[in-house]
Amino acid sequence: MPGHRLGTRLAGFAAVAGAAGAALVWQRRLRRSGTLADFPHLLMGGRETGTVPPGGVRVTSLGTTMMLIDDGVTQIVIDPFLTPVPLLAAALRTPVATDPRVVDDALDQVGADRVRAIFVSHAHHDHALDVAHLAHRTGATVYGSASTLNLARGGAVPEDQLSGLDPTRPVTVGGFTVRTFASRHSPHPLGGEGATIDRPLPQPAPITAYKEGGTYDFLVSARAQRMLFKGSVNWVPGAFDDVVADTLFLSVGTLGRVDKTFARDYLDATLGTLRPELAVLTHWNDLFAPVAAPLPFHRKFIDDTPLSFERVRRHSHGARVGVLDAFTSITLTPSADLRTGP
Ligand SMILES: [Zn+2]
Ligand SMILES: [Zn+2]
Repeated sequence: MPGHRLGTRLAGFAAVAGAAGAALVWQRRLRRSGTLADFPHLLMGGRETGTVPPGGVRVTSLGTTMMLIDDGVTQIVIDPFLTPVPLLAAALRTPVATDPRVVDDALDQVGADRVRAIFVSHAHHDHALDVAHLAHRTGATVYGSASTLNLARGGAVPEDQLSGLDPTRPVTVGGFTVRTFASRHSPHPLGGEGATIDRPLPQPAPITAYKEGGTYDFLVSARAQRMLFKGSVNWVPGAFDDVVADTLFLSVGTLGRVDKTFARDYLDATLGTLRPELAVLTHWNDLFAPVAAPLPFHRKFIDDTPLSFERVRRHSHGARVGVLDAFTSITLTPSADLRTGP
């Protein structure tokens, strides 16, 4: 039967075309942009447990822009995000919630048992998803935008544990001083720059409910170390004109996707202005994958991570540049030499 044969042929053709299309989407969009194994020269730090050496400040990476900072007495956390949100859940807008086991496990692994403050750069889920659980577990004060505080309120964090961000007033936490800078979100935001969370947001909630709510940078000083934490690829011109940082924790998420001029201007406004001795690149790992070493690079539709790294290499302004794998640390010491783990 010719009609039947034609139908079979068309179906076969459609299947081949479909497979080819899927392969193309995979190649261009979903494939990982590279692997950490190709950048061994950037890898610094190691697993460090036990007491922080006298006079030192230990900084431990927990993936994306999440960091644990420890001066041996007090600990601070930046951008709490550990619960895996699979890409499919994000795409289907499935409501997600903190997984307390995953968060507690990670915190135990890195010895986070003296956390007194949590600073959140902005309210997107990949910087703030686990803020309420972390606040409950540690009793720490949450410092964030009005939107971030509504994430904490949605998780029933008491009001006396919440504090807004005031760029005119540095905050003291134990031996730490933290100064806040109003900044801007990268040009490819999830939820859109300027969108806010205007009432307490309980979990579970789709990640699209985590609106940006304003973006901030933090200058953390302790034991003669000045560390600047920059959570998103954008800047306010002149913001760092009178600022010096010894170490810059620099988001490069989407740096390989923004245009070349924007990328260079970003690196001039950060590395070029702050002139840090060391730049630790952050936000380069796949935010839809669990936090585990080795951290996988972004899929291509989010960023071209090797190109991000290459752009930093070309405009490093003399800084030593490195990355930290999950659960690894560097200890910054007064002489500015870097102790790395065993
Ligand atoms: Zn964001
Ligand atoms: Zn982000």
